[in-house]
Amino acid sequence: MIRTFTFDAAHQLPWHTGRCRNLHGHTYRLEVTVEGPIGDDGIVLDFADLDAVVRREIIERYDHTYLNDQLDNPTAELIAADIWKRLESVGAWRLARLRLWETADSGVELIA
Ligand SMILES: [Zn+2]
Repeated sequence: MIRTFTFDAAHQLPWHTGRCRNLHGHTYRLEVTVEGPIGDDGIVLDFADLDAVVRREIIERYDHTYLNDQLDNPTAELIAADIWKRLESVGAWRLARLRLWETADSGVELIA
């Protein structure tokens, strides 16, 4: 099952030679895919349960923040890796894939 989320955050990449070194923001779009067997109730996981965990662990942490305060180098790749680690540590279900979009056409994907 898949659930998508969005959060707004600012960052800058000081090592970058182009515009990304300047302070700017994105509306990040996060897609979380959880895999598992279909239970007797006919679902893998209740969307509301995934929703609650991702909001508590990820969205509340990142939304409307300056990402450089939390990560040394907040590239999409490293933000996604941090999100993966945090969701995995919750341990309630099996993450299959995570996509983090910085813009409509640029994002990264992690696969289990
Ligand atoms: Zn950026």
